[in-house]
Amino acid sequence: MQALNFPPQNWQLSLKNLITDPKELFAILDLPKELLPAAERASTLFDLRVPREFVALMRKGDPKDPLLAQVLPLEQEFEERSGFIEDPLNEAASRPTAGVVHKYKDRVLLILSGACAINCRYCFRRHFPYSDNQISGTAREQALTYIRSNSDIKEVILSGGDPLVASDTRLEQLINDLAAIPHIERLRVHTRLPVVIPSRITDRLLEILGKTRLQTALVLHINHSREISTELERACQQMRQAGVTLLNQAVILRNVNDQAAIQVELSRSLYRIGILPYYLFLFDPVKGASHFDIEESDAKTLAAQMQSELPGYLMPRLAKEIPNRPSKTLILPDIQ
Ligand SMILES: *Cc1c(COP(=O)(O)O)cnc(C)c1O
Ligand code: SF4
Repeated sequence: MQALNFPPQNWQLSLKNLITDPKELFAILDLPKELLPAAERASTLFDLRVPREFVALMRKGDPKDPLLAQVLPLEQEFEERSGFIEDPLNEAASRPTAGVVHKYKDRVLLILSGACAINCRYCFRRHFPYSDNQISGTAREQALTYIRSNSDIKEVILSGGDPLVASDTRLEQLINDLAAIPHIERLRVHTRLPVVIPSRITDRLLEILGKTRLQTALVLHINHSREISTELERACQQMRQAGVTLLNQAVILRNVNDQAAIQVELSRSLYRIGILPYYLFLFDPVKGASHFDIEESDAKTLAAQMQSELPGYLMPRLAKEIPNRPSKTLILPDIQ
């Protein structure tokens, strides 16, 4: 596990100070110059955006580094492949009001912020119309009204973008408003921010999550054990002390984590820092990212290999999202 060697600092400064220029990324990591023109072209499709803390975990001079591969814009993003589309999950069909995605009966997603600290090239939200779907002002009130008037909803999932881009003050107000709705029992936060900027877990945030009456879970997004820094470990320890359940969801990505040994190490490393593996998603067929895709049959073989090496509780559920179903679709490992 690597230490970041960053002084403890203000996460908002880290967010302002992201690397967005491919030239700078190439200089810091000492990457082969011949890859730069393609990176510049592809960053016009989806901006390069990566925190310095995350770049500090990458290997220098290695264009195939599994952390770098998640953020480096590539020529292949211009390739069109049939079935790879802009809204593969058909979320547009499940938005009762701006910023709310209600697909599953007892829980809703609230899109708290359109932005992320990092732009993952494979993200199914790379084409998402964020500007129309952030909750603030009247949209926030309409979202709360929708949740208040639907007593089937037991859980609110803060999502995005990355919901932890929002300030602690804004989060506290929203969590208070949600906790005031009697039928809401659970709060979930889907975030990658603590992974890429661990200082996001502020004392204030710990206090807010620790004191709400809602049962709270944080679902992190870590795809490779090398994303786990000592700073993230400390943040996870503090969150557990605050009573927050920690889970992880990952996505299978070609040449990043599509080997059983990498997945097994990921599950073990997560558990070492108090996180249980939750989902391992098959890739969503998003336009511009088909080079990350693997065959479903290969994913099932991968899962079977993992299952033969891991205790049941460290085996993530292999799943995919098929639009218009009442839950995620679980896929069984292909055990020979
Ligand atoms: C994935 C997802 C959820 C959460 O599903 P779980 O199986 O409970 O983790 C909720 N709402 C939407 C719209 C989702 O896409
Ligand atoms: S939503 Fe998650 S996967 Fe997508 S860019 Fe943001 S952090 Fe990455």
